Amino acid sequence: MRFSYISHLHCPKCGEEYPADRIQQLCGCGSPLLVDYDLKELKKQWMPADLAGRSNDLWRYHELLPVTDEGNVVTLGEGMTPLLKLEQAGRDMDIPNLLMKDEGVIPTGSFKARGAAVGVSKAKELGVKELAMPTNGNAGAAWSLYAARAGIKASIVMPVEAPLITRGEVAVSGANLNLVNGLISDAGQIVGQAVKEHGLYDASTLKEPYRIEGKKTMGIEIAEQMHWKVPDVILYPAGGGVGLIGIHKALKELAELGWIKNKLPRLVAVQAAGCAPIVKAWEEGKAESEFWENSETAAFGINVPKALGDFLVLSAIAETNGCAVAVSDSELLEEQARVARLEGAFVCPEGAAAFAAARKLRQTGWIKDGEAVLVLNTGSGIKYPETVQTAAPVLEPGDSLLRP
Ligand SMILES: *Cc1c(COP(=O)(O)O)cnc(C)c1O
Ligand SMILES: [Zn+2]
Repeated sequence: MRFSYISHLHCPKCGEEYPADRIQQLCGCGSPLLVDYDLKELKKQWMPADLAGRSNDLWRYHELLPVTDEGNVVTLGEGMTPLLKLEQAGRDMDIPNLLMKDEGVIPTGSFKARGAAVGVSKAKELGVKELAMPTNGNAGAAWSLYAARAGIKASIVMPVEAPLITRGEVAVSGANLNLVNGLISDAGQIVGQAVKEHGLYDASTLKEPYRIEGKKTMGIEIAEQMHWKVPDVILYPAGGGVGLIGIHKALKELAELGWIKNKLPRLVAVQAAGCAPIVKAWEEGKAESEFWENSETAAFGINVPKALGDFLVLSAIAETNGCAVAVSDSELLEEQARVARLEGAFVCPEGAAAFAAARKLRQTGWIKDGEAVLVLNTGSGIKYPETVQTAAPVLEPGDSLLRP
């Protein structure tokens, strides 16, 4: 058996095909490229039972990942995050079958580790020596740390407003860190210029085809953890939308392999009201989004005013009868506190947005009685200490405990 069943790349916009054994960035038409696998052959060779006894990380699915030589795998042990039933929060939202996949407990503290592990491994396989990327923080942190492990140089540009800890993660990895007085779109422009001038590998969201493949493993894990019977609804906080595109791709590949027997979940893209280009496009029935001016939200990871893969997100929600929903910052911050109080889970503000959206969609009846609803918590709340206000009394030694 081969380590990977990758066959080639294709463009979802114009259909052009590209070989996968050399560096490819965007299609000539400007669209992101997607990875194809020899699923017909793989279907004959591979069964769920073959996963037994494999490493408890995302590389257990290596046949459906793009790295062809196991020696190129760069790993920090990412993947197989917990899938938890949330009884208290579920009761509070009238969703008795509420589940959370918790990406807070993964190297670098956010699900960006998945995209970085697979993206950096494939970059190493393709002979990349230096990469560059714009980021809202978590992706830059993950990519620079995995690049350090791979011996690849990284240049990272992030907004000065990005969560402080992600700055530290990039710096400690030894990567070249630049801050920009602006948004991720401004960082992207600077990286684009550097890529042109210095011939760097462009690791911007969807400008290389392999980050999606890492993120799609969330979909495979959900299916495996639920014994190949997938939930009715999956809610995902969408910035660039890579995770949602990836989960959709994974579920379709598994269905083609015959591993998933029930109906595919309705996929929900959740955005912050202060930056909701995909929700706006969805509500207007458009196939692509428009640049969102003056975007702002506490859920920094989803502050993406225009996503290159917006059309893929919109078609994934349409194909699965899903939807796109926006929630306000006050709604998502309240939900973050509620989930921590009811479940002991300190979720990131982006994950909290997805919980707030679940509550909303249950209230409107879009989520029906008894449906199994899975929320992706894309990172750890620990990375965003500024989202929690504390007002603790300060005692002197010998004072007695104050109780409310
Ligand atoms: C990047 C990020 C997101 C959004 O991911 P996309 O793939 O860009 O949609 C959501 N949550 C967190 C914590 C992130 O870092
Ligand atoms: Zn194309």
